[in-house]
Amino acid sequence: MHALSLKQLAEGLRRRQFSSRELTRHFLDRVQRLDKTYNSFITVTPELALAQADAADAAIAAGTAGALTGIPLAQKDIFCTRGVRTSCASRMLDNFTAPYDATVVRKLHAEAGMVMLGKCNMDEFAMGSSNETSWYGPVRNPWDTRRVPGGSSGGSAAAVAAGLAPAATATDTGGSIRQPAALTNLTGIKPTYGRVSRYGMIAFASSLDQGGVLARSAEDAAMVLQAMIGFDPLDSTSVQRDSESFTGTLGRSVAGLRIGLPREYFAEGLSPGVRRCVDAAVRQLQEMGAVTLDISLPNAMLSVPTYYVVAPAEASSNLARYDGVRFGHRAEAVRNLEDLYRRSRGEGFGPEVQRRIMVGTYVLSHGYYDAYYLQAQKVRKLIYEDFRAAFGQCDLILGPTTTDVAFELDSKTDDPVAMYLNDIYTIAANLAGIPAMSLPCGFDDGLPVGMQLMGDFFQEGRLLNVAHQYQQATSGHLRLPKGCE
Ligand code: GLN
Repeated sequence: MHALSLKQLAEGLRRRQFSSRELTRHFLDRVQRLDKTYNSFITVTPELALAQADAADAAIAAGTAGALTGIPLAQKDIFCTRGVRTSCASRMLDNFTAPYDATVVRKLHAEAGMVMLGKCNMDEFAMGSSNETSWYGPVRNPWDTRRVPGGSSGGSAAAVAAGLAPAATATDTGGSIRQPAALTNLTGIKPTYGRVSRYGMIAFASSLDQGGVLARSAEDAAMVLQAMIGFDPLDSTSVQRDSESFTGTLGRSVAGLRIGLPREYFAEGLSPGVRRCVDAAVRQLQEMGAVTLDISLPNAMLSVPTYYVVAPAEASSNLARYDGVRFGHRAEAVRNLEDLYRRSRGEGFGPEVQRRIMVGTYVLSHGYYDAYYLQAQKVRKLIYEDFRAAFGQCDLILGPTTTDVAFELDSKTDDPVAMYLNDIYTIAANLAGIPAMSLPCGFDDGLPVGMQLMGDFFQEGRLLNVAHQYQQATSGHLRLPKGCE
């Protein structure tokens, strides 16, 4: 059952080949048997899952089931879940049980009828590219357990890649859906900023954070994303759009589609193995009738330094709420109020989170604001202008998602800049707010390689369509890691 697509799972449920309870048990059993190795879940919720499965089976019997009713799903532990610990992989929130559901959680479970298997591991407060900053320990890549699955949505990625969940939610502030997708042979999409409600999604950098999905195909991703989007009055940056069907447009031909290849994304720093796979995918799309043209995103390579001013600035403000007073970790035997703040924050936050808070506080401080924060905002505008110009020439942009395949655990933990460079190709889309996705495009020495598609605002349907067409012509995305078949 873990090798089936969401459509096949829905069909199996509808025809009563298996019940949602059986399906849920199958995945819970796999989690119990295999996740000791991967550490992809922080919290598993078997009782809740089985109760939701029974409700789904009743809906199926009553003929009131929707397209996703009864299908299991894993939630990144950044989404608030009422009555279930929501830790954000931080010691700070290890004792936090959310009093309410995130909009995404409400939509996927209460409304769409999906079954929640549990909460996935991640980098602490979504800060990282390897899932090594988690308070609950690193996640291992199912394709090679000595390697990282990427981050920050590393637990979501490993769970889906290993067949412990059919799909998982994830979030992407600078690449946290796309980079893990690339490193674990998954399809992941970060929609346009404002598409998916941020209500109940623990804030990292509010102007960049966006929820999305990790799945095994573009079709699966389209089905889940469809259920996640929509205007939400509880999120002031939520966008109001007419409803669109991402699943309804997957069948369109790519003939005549203009694909821009940014020269900056195929320059120095790209590994030959990744380049070979992405080049082959470009040829495949050309054979299918797409037209490619060379484009330039001249400011894209400024995105990493820009992001590492903007994101920590917003994080330092967002994380100010964790002060040990109302919720979260509280230091014991404090001497006075300042001691309470200092020690609660010092004990509750890990080193990477502390680094971001310090950088963010610095760039926002009087005397440095103009030199760093204001400057970064100006460059952010230039990056956005690059995309505006590019989408005057092409319908979508294609390039590698990462410079290389998954790296070994602990190989970059002492070098934050090397870690930050993981997101060199992904961050620009967050700064501009445009939708972007990663999908598998081959293997380098047995390790998955991903290609990235970026589209203009609200062009998720087109990205998913192109990805689906590519996946109809190829089969690499269906490969499972050894031991997970
Ligand atoms: N790796 C980037 C960071 O560490 C992006 C993380 C994310 O998208 N949440 O900030």
